[in-house]
Amino acid sequence: MRAGNVSEIFVSFQGEGAHAGRRHLFVRLAGCPLRCRYCDTPESLVPAPACRVLGPDGAHARPNPLGPDVLAAEVAALATAAPPLHALAVTGGEPLAQADFLVEWLGGHPPGLPVLLETAGILPQRLRRVLPWVAIVSLDFKCPSNTGERARWEEHEACLAESVAAGREVYVKMPVDEATLPAEVARGAELMARLAPAAPLFLTPLTEPDGTRLTIGAASLERLHATASAAHRDVRVLPQLHKVLGIL
Ligand code: SF4
Repeated sequence: MRAGNVSEIFVSFQGEGAHAGRRHLFVRLAGCPLRCRYCDTPESLVPAPACRVLGPDGAHARPNPLGPDVLAAEVAALATAAPPLHALAVTGGEPLAQADFLVEWLGGHPPGLPVLLETAGILPQRLRRVLPWVAIVSLDFKCPSNTGERARWEEHEACLAESVAAGREVYVKMPVDEATLPAEVARGAELMARLAPAAPLFLTPLTEPDGTRLTIGAASLERLHATASAAHRDVRVLPQLHKVLGIL
């Protein structure tokens, strides 16, 4: 049995994308191959010694790694204790870094909730293996001008194509700040228009690490929205709701 490294399990309001404001049960997997400059979950970039489980009756910890049966039991208990829930959000870190574990967990223990997978969209072959158990795909398109990472357009394109071909609900988020190059936003929007013309593209204004201030002004947001809208018909600006609310 393959075990996984999970950093936390909790219930909160979804903060980003097409289902922002809905109440989700989050499973955050630890580990990520990227190091985005703006990463707001630095504690999830490397394996965690224990998984924190936050429930309505308090918190407890489970030592990592977790077996799929243990994770399924924790998810089922929290889902029972904390309704109502719209979906199970599998997030990270980069959850697809542990694709084998995801297949064992979700394939062997269907959670009874639609699975929303939040991924950086850089591991298309792993995404293909996990898609059978996923209802909603939340993909990121990463702009090198604000991540400090190299461009991943081929991987983003392949992930979007896999999601569309599988018939899954899909939406894309592009985190943006004052450093974001309009040419990169245009490239992302063109990709959407070509492969997923009916899917929304969210420009996600990034927030300062302390959560108090956006790192992009209204005029720049207007410009980036206009740039993206020249290529794609459904472009939306949505700040990170969980930062506004001061919640997980
Ligand atoms: S992909 Fe996500 S988790 Fe990984 S470094 Fe970037 S923002 Fe952080």
